[in-house]
Amino acid sequence: MIAGGGAGRRWQPAYVALGSNLADPVAQLQAALRAMNALADTRVVTVSPFYRSPPMGPQDQPAYVNAVAGLLTRLMAPALLSGLKAIERARGRPADAPRWGPRIIDLDIIAIGRQQLTQSGLTIPHPGAAVRAFVLQPLADIAPAFELPGAGRVEALLAKVDLAGLQRLETAA
Ligand code: ADP
Ligand code: MG
Repeated sequence: MIAGGGAGRRWQPAYVALGSNLADPVAQLQAALRAMNALADTRVVTVSPFYRSPPMGPQDQPAYVNAVAGLLTRLMAPALLSGLKAIERARGRPADAPRWGPRIIDLDIIAIGRQQLTQSGLTIPHPGAAVRAFVLQPLADIAPAFELPGAGRVEALLAKVDLAGLQRLETAA
């Protein structure tokens, strides 16, 4: 039987990238992880170490703290995205915040199992994931052998990116 509320029948592994560069980023990531674990039909199973990374785009903003969480979820992709956006809003991120600008919390769906989809406002796997060190390093920490659909194995993708500037933090989830 297929449950309602955007829940699919099967539990699937999913990876979510977290990033923050405002208002105590480490605490923001920790709060977002708790909130993700509280989403319906979703459990946070594993969390990578936290990393400090230089900002992408405009450099006149604070460094980011990034991590990747491994989830199990029964939510379909759009429902998971809605849940993540609700968490972003609840943490105080304005819906119209500039794309590359500083943010309290950014939650991106990197992958959901082997899905590949592009539909209104949602692309999975996340198009930036295969080339961004601040996603690949924490993803490799928890899932080095994961095959990012259409892109390749995480550890092979990691070997191709520049890790300079990425600094592993002692604090974690
Ligand atoms: P960024 O690219 O820095 O994450 P935003 O967080 O502002 O920028 O995201 C812009 C939009 O990208 C979101 O509103 C969302 O609808 C869309 N989007 C497309 N694919 C994804 C994905 N895989 N994960 C999260 N958001 C996505
Ligand atoms: Mg985002």
